[in-house]
Amino acid sequence: MQNRTFARKLPDMPKIEIFDIAIVGGGIVGAATFYKLQIKYPALKIILIEKENILADHQTGHNSGVIHSGLYYPPGSLKALNCVKGRKELVAFANEHQIDCDVCGKIVVATNESELPMLEKIFKIGLENGIEGIEMIDAEGIKRREPFCQGIAGIWVPVAGIIDFREATKKMVELALNENPESKLILGEEVVEIDPTGEIKALKTRENAYFSKHQIFCAGLQADRMARKDGVKLKEKVVGFRGDYYELTDTGHHKVKNLIYPVPNPAFPFLGVHFTRMTNGEIECGPNAVFTFKREGYGKTDFSLKDSIDALSYGGTWKLFFKNMKFGINEYRRAFSKKLFLKTLQRLIPSLTMEDLKPGRAGVRALLLREDGDTRDDFRIEIKDTSIHVLNAPSPAATASLAIGGQICDMAEKEFDLVGNKD
Ligand SMILES: Cc1cc2nc3c(=O)[nH]c(=O)nc-3n(C[C@H](O)[C@H](O)[C@H](O)COP(=O)(O)OP(=O)(O)OC[C@H]3O[C@@H](n4cnc5c(N)ncnc54)[C@H](O)[C@@H]3O)c2cc1C
Repeated sequence: MQNRTFARKLPDMPKIEIFDIAIVGGGIVGAATFYKLQIKYPALKIILIEKENILADHQTGHNSGVIHSGLYYPPGSLKALNCVKGRKELVAFANEHQIDCDVCGKIVVATNESELPMLEKIFKIGLENGIEGIEMIDAEGIKRREPFCQGIAGIWVPVAGIIDFREATKKMVELALNENPESKLILGEEVVEIDPTGEIKALKTRENAYFSKHQIFCAGLQADRMARKDGVKLKEKVVGFRGDYYELTDTGHHKVKNLIYPVPNPAFPFLGVHFTRMTNGEIECGPNAVFTFKREGYGKTDFSLKDSIDALSYGGTWKLFFKNMKFGINEYRRAFSKKLFLKTLQRLIPSLTMEDLKPGRAGVRALLLREDGDTRDDFRIEIKDTSIHVLNAPSPAATASLAIGGQICDMAEKEFDLVGNKD
């Protein structure tokens, strides 16, 4: 018998696709980073991975929809610089791409004498930060702009406004994908493991592994977990603060024209319960700030064992609780009592009644909590080997997103070997 050898046919090996950059997180910071990088470097093959089935479904899609002016933030801080720059870019972007947006202006209102020193301090900070057109106004000036609002003095901020942040996020991603058809958007896959394999890292989801030379993590409420998975030695932890909103009913709708803010309490990283006209015409009031035991939980009683253990096993959380015990208890009471919520709102609009309010939605803010219990950190972006991690991007990061995206683009340019700059 003739001795024949057969060439054994090997099964086709799947070709590994390697991206230049993988971005994790399809909120507005991830989207703006994708957009900025792709527009400047059209040849880069970039993949954006988002665990939800739609973009902007956490902080970005649950926020107040306000374009902040940059009024409150310490001069020279990343928040101040990026808010002012990013606000201008965002408004131009919205106008160019027909995103719902209205630069309607806002007022910050002092309702009693004790708030005047803080109001003046904010005004000075606003001038230092170069906020265009801000003006101190008196009770008359407040009434002229918001006839139902009662205050003794205020600041008129003409460059603040409202926008549809979900639509802005979608448009940024759409434009980036149009720029390079080889770039990709993956929805509905959560990065659960980061596996460094030589020069190339694998980002593993339950369904697939995505390989890239560089990685940028913009994971919002999960930022610390992503950083630790990637080997970043991070002392801080992310904590979530839920904010509930009410909406004005037909009977109360006429009592607010645009945006009315209280004078914020400098001890907290929140601006206080405010009135916001949304781009869909609804008027929202809120948000309060309640420590939450579920990072991505939007119901008042939502609970996650993993998130709770994570938070309660961290010394910073307890320091935060003890330092702000009275504030925390009051916020919990207000979260469950419409009457108490109304009382807060009546400080600005005394004629509001229970009938003027109906329950609205909620959002959860991610704040990087320091070991000493402080949550007032600036934006924080760090580099680790081939990765960039956005560790802290609380408000006004949606307003500032294009500037943050630009800053990340600059960092990537410096640290990664990017080729094909369009400029
Ligand atoms: C109640 C509230 C009101 C606010 N109001 C304003 C405002 O009026 N104006 C303003 O400028 N800012 C406001 N902010 C702040 C602003 O919304 C946030 O700073 C901004 O949206 C942060 O964007 P982000 O992309 O970093 O986070 P996110 O929008 O939370 O996006 C992070 C994304 O990462 C995804 N992700 C996480 N882990 C993974 C993983 N392992 N794999 C894949 N995907 C993952 C998440 O699903 C999410 O979509 C507010 C925030 C809240 C909550």
